[in-house]
Amino acid sequence: MRDFSADHRWMSLNTATVRKQGDLAEIIEACARHGIRAIDPWREQVAAVGLDRAVRMVRDAGLELSGYCRGGMFVADAAHRMQARDDNRRAVDEAKALGAPCIVLVAGGLPQYSRAGSAASKDIAAARAQVEDGLAELLVYAREVNLPLAIEPLHPAYAADRACVNTTKQALDICDALDPKRTGLLGVALDVYHIWWDPEVLPQIARAGKDRLLAFHVCDWLVPTKDILNDRGMMGDGVIDIKSIRAAVEAQGFAGYSEIEIFSNDWWEKPVDEVLRTCIERHRSVV
Ligand code: ZN
Repeated sequence: MRDFSADHRWMSLNTATVRKQGDLAEIIEACARHGIRAIDPWREQVAAVGLDRAVRMVRDAGLELSGYCRGGMFVADAAHRMQARDDNRRAVDEAKALGAPCIVLVAGGLPQYSRAGSAASKDIAAARAQVEDGLAELLVYAREVNLPLAIEPLHPAYAADRACVNTTKQALDICDALDPKRTGLLGVALDVYHIWWDPEVLPQIARAGKDRLLAFHVCDWLVPTKDILNDRGMMGDGVIDIKSIRAAVEAQGFAGYSEIEIFSNDWWEKPVDEVLRTCIERHRSVV
């Protein structure tokens, strides 16, 4: 396993971590101040400054991307399916323009939450089938433009509103069904927040192997968790054995960034320099 204790060259910042503290331009300036080499920006942050300007800012700052957040939300009623398809193709194009190594995909939950305006349904099996269909369709497009798709399984608490792909096994079963030859264009984004509890996680990481491991996200699980979406912890403040999971991922040959992704009402209240200083310190000590 790589030694992160001496520097933070393999730390990436998911820009949602400081999204309340400034726009993408300000976040990129803050990364430069702290010697952070990579980011994973969100679509709405890119849209707010304009795609062309975002591309220039990333290039001028000499930043790399560890991913692009996010596409997916494949579940929709018939009237909204085309919108989902077109929106995902645009997301892939943006990721390509920004030089991202992959686009992170969150599957979508039930249709009424996945695509606004869709008719309500309680059929989670149908939702899961739609996710697989949507991924199959997007994979054709991803192949044309050569941009890998990273499925991020989410903790089961989000099955209704965000993602009905809830375990690493489920995500890898989809990968094996749609990309049996392991072309490198379909894999997983593993976020310790979503997978740490899973008794199958270590064998599934081994099953994934290097060519399916496209991104690695870190934060921590606080006890108690006050808000299932926006109370993620800073690494070291919770119960996740992050180093063990990183060791398993790196044992497969993953050599990319450890991307810090913290949605937290508490950390959004703190000055950006304090947040980034803490991220760097924890990256070196507990990631
Ligand atoms: Zn994540």
